[in-house]
Amino acid sequence: MSRLATPDRTAPGVRLLVVEDEPKVAGALREGLEGEGYTVVVESSGEGAFFRLATEHDRFDAILLDLTLPGRDGLEVLAELRRQGIGTPVVVLTARDTLDDRVIGLDAGADDYLIKPFAFAELLARLRAVGRRGRAVDADRVSLDTLSLDRATREVTRAGQPIELTAKEFDLLHYLARHIRQVVSRDTLAREVWRETARSTTLDNVIDVHISRLRRKIDLGHPVALIQTVRGVGFVLRGDAG
Ligand code: CA
Repeated sequence: MSRLATPDRTAPGVRLLVVEDEPKVAGALREGLEGEGYTVVVESSGEGAFFRLATEHDRFDAILLDLTLPGRDGLEVLAELRRQGIGTPVVVLTARDTLDDRVIGLDAGADDYLIKPFAFAELLARLRAVGRRGRAVDADRVSLDTLSLDRATREVTRAGQPIELTAKEFDLLHYLARHIRQVVSRDTLAREVWRETARSTTLDNVIDVHISRLRRKIDLGHPVALIQTVRGVGFVLRGDAG
């Protein structure tokens, strides 16, 4: 009986961003992880990591983040990512073996942490765990600025206040949230949210009405408008003016 080839490496194709300023440690991580089949990109500063993630976070399945970095430290990078609604799983690497740092790391939105020095096998185990968890979390819970939504319960809150949405409004918001910071066209919304293959003026109007209702419910009275129109292109959910 023929069998599909089974890769002997544990993580073929999984893309990791390693943020580590010590060349020796970064080199060892790259070598070890590539040996396991991970695709590894290394950034050696918080600033570098931040800018790469601001534009390319979709390219990474997980991030290994050293906390003590020159310039912006790891916690700052992490907090900023989470503030922008980027939910890529993060494993914090820290030499500072104190309870405070662990609490801070997890509060800031880390998925797990490892105290240096750590066993490589332990790192692999943590990466597999956050990989499994990360996919589930990404699918079910999204948060941006003070907005959060939970697909499982269909609950939406802004600044802690529950918001009542119709089923279609929720589906629309959830679609925008799953494609956070990406401009989504009316064509795409017609296909993906309304399940209509042909676009029409009537449907465009329906979409626009839903967008303006969502705006009223989500953004009205809040300092940051999350649902933004990109003229001539579509809509985007993001937490800043850019
Ligand atoms: Ca360091």
